[in-house]
Amino acid sequence: MQKRLFIPGPIDVSEDVLEQMLKPMIGHRSRDSSMLQRNISRKIQKLFKTEDQILLSTSSGSGLMEGAIRSCTRKRAAVFSSGAFGNRWYDMAICNNVPADKFNVDEGKAITGELVDKVLSTGKYDLITITHNETSTGVMNPLGEISEVMDMYPDIIWCLDAVSSMGGSNIEVDRLGVDICITSTQKAIGVPPGLAIASISQKAIRAAEKVEYRGAYFDLLALYRYIKDKDYQYPSTPAISLMYALDYQLNKILEEGLENRYRRHLDMAQYVQKWAREKFQLFADEKYLSHTLTTIRNTRNIDIVRLNQELEERGYVISNGYGKLKNKTFRISHMGDYTMEDIRGLIETVDDILKI
Ligand SMILES: *Cc1c(COP(=O)(O)O)cnc(C)c1O
Repeated sequence: MQKRLFIPGPIDVSEDVLEQMLKPMIGHRSRDSSMLQRNISRKIQKLFKTEDQILLSTSSGSGLMEGAIRSCTRKRAAVFSSGAFGNRWYDMAICNNVPADKFNVDEGKAITGELVDKVLSTGKYDLITITHNETSTGVMNPLGEISEVMDMYPDIIWCLDAVSSMGGSNIEVDRLGVDICITSTQKAIGVPPGLAIASISQKAIRAAEKVEYRGAYFDLLALYRYIKDKDYQYPSTPAISLMYALDYQLNKILEEGLENRYRRHLDMAQYVQKWAREKFQLFADEKYLSHTLTTIRNTRNIDIVRLNQELEERGYVISNGYGKLKNKTFRISHMGDYTMEDIRGLIETVDDILKI
């Protein structure tokens, strides 16, 4: 039986999107290949609300995260972490010998503009990383106030992990002043895993030009130059089948309308939040609740593994808590192409199993 995935990625992909992956191959040095990547980039610019160049990577989102912190840190990176995914940026920096410091907020809390300002006012840093939607805790960090702070530091590069929110929540890259915004295909965009997407500003390009050792495969400057010199081609062989699926799904996203799509995500989020408040407790600070997934405190001490087994028998899967939060919390994602009806079906099934 096919199980519907209400986990924070990969999520269910529509049949018609999957079918795109059956198309015949094209050479990755052909005009067709240039056209495919160019078309994707134009549509991604609309989704990201940016004029910046779009980079595609045949990897998951983590590849471009590592590439960003390595390619653009000249002096020292300030990593702001609100949980497990924020911590990843720091580990990536350290593994690459990139000087970095980590600034944590308590789990369930958000990274505030005030904290960012306090750290940057030391003058020690030339790049920051922020996780927009912390997929472990269900916190959506406040980009507006961070953007106001970043306006005061025009030389600092802003890298944003939007892996679990882009496509489900409004992120205006240019208006916010984000230099490198990164996402993956398998979350709110609704395409199978295997491609990562980033926008890159001219400021970030100039920063990368000053960094001597940027790695090879994830050298963002090399990806950028290749697109410019070779008319939207990719330095190695890209996942062409996924590109077909992405190109097609972006049409569907733009046809739905971005505002409608964000509204649908918010409606689903509010429905799950309301249920979680009534039956359990929300883990994240009420002021910063995610629009794409909900982390629920396991106040009833239910056996989450057992719940998931019973859910699977009825065709659903949810997520346990992440890392240390396992069993103390569980997570329900509501991202991509799911509808209110789908999410209601899931929640009613959980109620029925737990008899609550
Ligand atoms: C899933 C996720 C990642 C990792 O993305 P991959 O595509 O699996 O590499 C990074 N950050 C956040 C916030 C995520 O949710």
